[in-house]
Amino acid sequence: MESRLRMSRSCELIIIVAILGYFTVSPRLMNIPLCPSAYFGGVLCPTCGITRATWHLLHGHVSDAWNFNPIGFLVLLILARRLVVLSLYNHVISRWLQSENVDRILFATFLLFGLIRSFRMVLAAN
Ligand SMILES: [Zn+2]
Repeated sequence: MESRLRMSRSCELIIIVAILGYFTVSPRLMNIPLCPSAYFGGVLCPTCGITRATWHLLHGHVSDAWNFNPIGFLVLLILARRLVVLSLYNHVISRWLQSENVDRILFATFLLFGLIRSFRMVLAAN
């Protein structure tokens, strides 16, 4: 059972590293709209731009990332957290990162960044 869990954690770790590696080395994003709201209705939602923001962050374009969507910062933070948890399983740092307090902070940050994004969308529309 333990070896299956270890294998599962290793697979997840490899997938996350592969995705981050791909985003980091790719010179541009594929032009595929991921959001149904934007694709079918032409209406941007509060999470539109997270993929582009994450890509810009991985390429060191912090300002562009913030302008696309601040939640992109949170996505990278959550992925980094997951990488640490998977790499240091049962370590004190890993247990702290999985605590409810960290979850609450991440959720509050998500709401805050979502509000910032929504507020900017309203300002841009007027
Ligand atoms: Zn969207």
